[in-house]
Amino acid sequence: MKLLLWAGIIVAVIWILRSKKSSAKVDSTKAPQPPLASTEAMLSCAHCKIHFPASEAVFDSSHTAFCSAEHRAQHVVR
Ligand SMILES: [Zn+2]
Repeated sequence: MKLLLWAGIIVAVIWILRSKKSSAKVDSTKAPQPPLASTEAMLSCAHCKIHFPASEAVFDSSHTAFCSAEHRAQHVVR
């Protein structure tokens, strides 16, 4: 009868540990994730033609998009 009691305790402990692990997994999925690149608008640099997120864009006076201020300056020169 004691063996049955211990078996029950072990099963209960395993069940508690499993439920804690699954709840931890749920918490990690609820945590804020960085926005996916596919959801963000992509622009191409007028100078080097590379594609980059719109949030990183550098615009000149005519609203032409560049990947960096360096390329904006180089593009004006040419
Ligand atoms: Zn560029």
